[in-house]
Amino acid sequence: MFWDRKTETLKRSTLEALQLQRLQATVRRVVKKVPLYQHRFAEYGLKPGHIRSLADVSRLPFTTSADLRASYPHGMLAVATDDVLRLHTSSGTTGKPKALFFSRHDVDNAAELMARCLVMSGVTRQDVLQNMMTYGLFTGALMMHYGAEKVGCLVIPAGPGNSERQLLLMQDFRTTAIHATPSYALYFADFLEKHGVNPRKDLALRKAFVGAEPYTEETRRKIEQGLGIDVYNCYGLSEMNGPGVAFECEHKHGMHLWEDNFLLEIIDPQTGEPLPDGQSGELVLTTLCSEAMPLLRFRTRDITSIIPERCPCGRTHRRINRITGRSDDMLIVRGVNIYPQQIERVLMSLPQVGSNYLIQLEGLDEMIIKVELAKAGFDGQVEHLVHLQSAIADRLRTELLVKPKVELVPPGTLPVSEGKAKRVIDHRTL
Ligand SMILES: [Zn+2]
Repeated sequence: MFWDRKTETLKRSTLEALQLQRLQATVRRVVKKVPLYQHRFAEYGLKPGHIRSLADVSRLPFTTSADLRASYPHGMLAVATDDVLRLHTSSGTTGKPKALFFSRHDVDNAAELMARCLVMSGVTRQDVLQNMMTYGLFTGALMMHYGAEKVGCLVIPAGPGNSERQLLLMQDFRTTAIHATPSYALYFADFLEKHGVNPRKDLALRKAFVGAEPYTEETRRKIEQGLGIDVYNCYGLSEMNGPGVAFECEHKHGMHLWEDNFLLEIIDPQTGEPLPDGQSGELVLTTLCSEAMPLLRFRTRDITSIIPERCPCGRTHRRINRITGRSDDMLIVRGVNIYPQQIERVLMSLPQVGSNYLIQLEGLDEMIIKVELAKAGFDGQVEHLVHLQSAIADRLRTELLVKPKVELVPPGTLPVSEGKAKRVIDHRTL
């Protein structure tokens, strides 16, 4: 099913011609309107006329989150303040947030892209979407909300948390689709089990859109089994409209990224050099249609790769693989690069393991991984626990090349977050 079949199936040559035309227009506009780009172009000796092909994108300066913070509050704005319809901010762990601006065109366009995503995964106007993301300064919930309304769904703006109420709404209004973070979806599956609700029999749920934090294929399977539904990966970021940047189609193999709106590159995060299709690196995006806040070569810090093959669904927009981590989440333990998702992949493949874990770094580079047992994970025999603990440590050593200390803890004892999960605590005294 298509929302905008013509655009979604454009011939590659037509799509690329459109990209070039939009890239050139974006470059001309930012150089005229945005001081940061005026300075960078002058510094690089670069003029808008130098961008003659799509490959010339590699001559353009990068934009980083630090640039956006330094330009707070209005520095990145490319339209008059009267033309801004919506402000979002992107969460910073410290210091100033990033201010993100949307004009009427941008808000409409974000809803349009979101509608493409939803229809691509089989949503119709008969669906009831319970939106369990945080409404507010974060774009995730609102942009999904607008897109689902555009498709004509009944949208329930539930927000996260309060699982009793979520369940009540789900039962009374026959919710068919949810939008949640993976950690909340897992938590909610546990909650249903605890309350004796069998989602396959007692609820009308069919699908979930899960995103906003990286997660593994094993976690997807756990959510699918726990809730009895189909889980679709989605990808977005507030700097690029919010959640509708890339989504899975019915084949659930990589996410189509809307290339008429975003120019896509994968780079080596250390050197900044472009990497060939198929190789894993940092995703860099240039907006092609943003009016209020166009961005050139935004460093997303998300690690992924391009799937170059055509998708059987007929869409010509290329797919990216699931996000395997963030280049700034990478931990260096005893000289080895480790992504938290590698640990998650190992843990979630074990049936005795529950849905929560915590990575603690202590002292001089010691890694302790606290792992919640599944409810059925302990049969009362202490020697089985000891055996499981060392089996997990061995598997992790094979995956990470560093052997962590594993501590098993009872189900439901690690802190649960209803927003983005905090998986790493670094107390090292190096
Ligand atoms: Zn497809």
